[in-house]
Amino acid sequence: MDSSEKWSVDSWLVAGARPTEPGDPLNTPIVAASSYVNGGEWGYARDEGTPTWVALETLLGRLESGRALAFGSGMAAIAAVFDQLNVGAHIIWPDDCYQGVAGIIADGEKQGRWTSSRIAVDDTAQWVDAGASADLIWLESPSNPLLVIADLRAIAAANRKPGSILAVDNTVATPLNQQPLQLGADISVMAATKYVGGHSDLLCGVAITDNDALHAGLFRSRLLNGATPGNLETFLAVRGARTLSIRLAAAQKSAQSLAERLEAHPAVVKVRYPGLPSHPQHELAKHQLNGYGTLISFDLPDGAAADTVLAALELITNATSFGAVESTIERRSTVAGQEHLPAGLLRFSVGIEDVEDLWHDLGNALA
Ligand SMILES: *Cc1c(COP(=O)(O)O)cnc(C)c1O
Repeated sequence: MDSSEKWSVDSWLVAGARPTEPGDPLNTPIVAASSYVNGGEWGYARDEGTPTWVALETLLGRLESGRALAFGSGMAAIAAVFDQLNVGAHIIWPDDCYQGVAGIIADGEKQGRWTSSRIAVDDTAQWVDAGASADLIWLESPSNPLLVIADLRAIAAANRKPGSILAVDNTVATPLNQQPLQLGADISVMAATKYVGGHSDLLCGVAITDNDALHAGLFRSRLLNGATPGNLETFLAVRGARTLSIRLAAAQKSAQSLAERLEAHPAVVKVRYPGLPSHPQHELAKHQLNGYGTLISFDLPDGAAADTVLAALELITNATSFGAVESTIERRSTVAGQEHLPAGLLRFSVGIEDVEDLWHDLGNALA
């Protein structure tokens, strides 16, 4: 047994996928090469990749007990999954999920490539029922931005159409809080842009599977569509992943505390956070997740109240995306494709600043 197999995930994140030969650099360098001298392990980068992205794939694959493939963005990894479908496929997908997925599904439907139906994230019976005849079961849990939990284990264990794919967008959960393949999924995808990168400085996506045929299909899709990641980006993603565990732990601790304080605040109508006992699926979250995450979605009475709070914040930045060291917040109904969300809903990504400074900033703005 390779001694690295005994390491906990925290140690693996720090020590895994490093060069090991005497004289090697400690970090896999940014290998800026499209071509390699023939006769060796590497050939052309769009095909075999580069040592820089393979380091990221090695690092993240082990976290989710599968083989990882890195892509140019989260959406590139997601598009590669949809690329696995034959014409005429039927897709079931959640009523709350990343808006890019809605875009892919709508475009493919318009072109006659597939049909689809949407199911409420928490309607497990409906997922189980519809899963029997679906070719792709697309799940995202916790969902973004409403933070609803899908019962992944129950949906994966149900009777499914032979050859169907169950894919989970694990971006919000992170590989530390949830391992979809171990819950029964065929493919887990994530935007490494978010928590793995962790510093709002890169775009990168990852798909992980333990199914060799699916791995080959995703690999072929990346190769033929040229959906390859950058060497700088994957280098930075590895660097970000080294601290993922402590960043997530710190931000998650603050998120729990801030969610509780927001819930007690008279100006706040509703707080959506899986770590709160008031979350409708708190018990399921407790069993399915190792941690409740760093995203809090909370509702103010209306859009004007939300805009007033955004304008008054000083430490927390009004910006899109999440999962970084810095706290960001956004009125999600102002984002294209998310107009259906409550106008007063703010999605808050808790960073690693001092929790009392964050509360001070929020408290001031809410007042
Ligand atoms: C950001 C995000 C994506 C897309 O990732 P990109 O790197 O921006 O393409 C997909 N799914 C979820 C849940 C996301 O938050």
